[in-house]
Amino acid sequence: MGPFENQNQDVEAVEAAKPETEEKVRKPKGANRMTEEELMEDYPQVVAGTLAFIETENKQAVKITCSTEDCERQRTVRTSDLWQVDKCEACTRKARRERARERRKAKKEAEAAEADES
Ligand SMILES: [Zn+2]
Repeated sequence: MGPFENQNQDVEAVEAAKPETEEKVRKPKGANRMTEEELMEDYPQVVAGTLAFIETENKQAVKITCSTEDCERQRTVRTSDLWQVDKCEACTRKARRERARERRKAKKEAEAAEADES
């Protein structure tokens, strides 16, 4: 055995002692994706079998059924918006109009009550 052979053996021993691969700390792309089962547990409006991934936005989308009684319209929403969307677009607009009307009515009543007091 010459001196060079010994050197090679040492290098091999050091290489073998190293861990195979360093664990990847970075989350793989799409690690925060949810399964349909998970989504349906949290959001009953989700329609089974409609979960899709939008590559261009790196987001998931799913179909929901409108929560309004007697309305069976469906719409596609980003899963990130599920927490705030449970109605079709028409019902969402309608609900918004009704809220505004109620606010106006309440304001009018408050003003009328004030006028009565004076
Ligand atoms: Zn609706």
